[in-house]
Amino acid sequence: MSLAQNPDFDGHEQVVFLTDEAAGLAAIIAIHSTRLGPAAGGCRAATYFSPDAALTDALRLSRGMSFKNALAGLPAGGGKAVIYRLGVNGRREAGFEAFGKAVDELGGIYVTAEDVGTGVPDMEVVARRTRFVAGLPSRPGQAGGDPSPWTALGVFVALEAAAGRPLAGARVAVQGLGSVGFKLCERLHQAGARLVVADVDRARALQAQDAFGADIESVERIHAADADVFSPNALGASLSIDTIPELGAPVVCGGANNQLATAEDGHRLLARGVTYAPDYVANAGGVINVMAEYLGEPADGVETRVRAIGGRMADLLAQARAQGLPPHEVADAMARERIARRAVEPVP
Ligand code: NAD
Repeated sequence: MSLAQNPDFDGHEQVVFLTDEAAGLAAIIAIHSTRLGPAAGGCRAATYFSPDAALTDALRLSRGMSFKNALAGLPAGGGKAVIYRLGVNGRREAGFEAFGKAVDELGGIYVTAEDVGTGVPDMEVVARRTRFVAGLPSRPGQAGGDPSPWTALGVFVALEAAAGRPLAGARVAVQGLGSVGFKLCERLHQAGARLVVADVDRARALQAQDAFGADIESVERIHAADADVFSPNALGASLSIDTIPELGAPVVCGGANNQLATAEDGHRLLARGVTYAPDYVANAGGVINVMAEYLGEPADGVETRVRAIGGRMADLLAQARAQGLPPHEVADAMARERIARRAVEPVP
């Protein structure tokens, strides 16, 4: 299939197919837009059924980054890297060096960072070959480091705004207990929420049971758990034609990217009366920290900007409700409008 025929191709500015046999690396770097600034978005390392599936993920995730960065008021466009083949052990390092070289050759139109399957140590390897990388250990007083605690904070304030009730005593079903999901559980627990959790890695679910008194649900049924909020924090497409009729909560708000399997699913949620908090609005905390690091900004401004996600989510949901539209459509339209007029002033 040609690139332009891919249903997720959205006028992406550039798509780089990267193969380095010696380093054992195969990757795609998708640059959706640089109208607002360098295309910023993490580097995911995952297993895909085919290179085409990796391409689809890169195209969708990079467009999502454009919208996320636009609505977060960042001077950044949207891009994403997807590594679908990576050597193991010592060769992992060679793979990230090769990836860093490729990022460097793009000359700064793409800025990378960690994502699912990559971490701070990988970005330190990337940084040997390029300066267009963030998510590195922070220097005193400067923004930096693992973005996931900031993502979790942003999701927490978004969830507070979307829940439509106090979190104390609310029941939240959390799917995925990785870097974001587990830290989100910590905050929800502190706020007095009751948790029901699921992770394919049972050890993580047991850890949440120990730490937060969470109930454990099966991975197959967590979306159907009786709850006030369902929070997807694993991989994408958890809201689909199959899961939406079974949802056990009237509100969905989580950190996973691309929660809607298709745009139609946003309409399905609306038709079922479920409030969907658009993923890329909720999960912008990480990239807010990443861009502060990349621009050399101090750490102390980050929290206020991440907490502003709560107000933004409340406004967006109110607007969608008033217009009778699915919130993701309202968010997409707002983001496209900001990109079109090159607006990078902070969003209220
Ligand atoms: P992670 O790899 O640390 O965690 C993912 C967790 O989900 C793992 O514990 C994994 O075992 C679990 N999981 C996988 N499939 C599952 C399934 N079917 N059911 C239940 N659990 C499952 O990743 P992360 O960094 O926590 O990111 C989680 C999501 O948030 C991803 O979609 C990512 O793109 C998105 N996100 C992350 C950040 C960040 O700062 N890390 C920022 C924005 C968006």
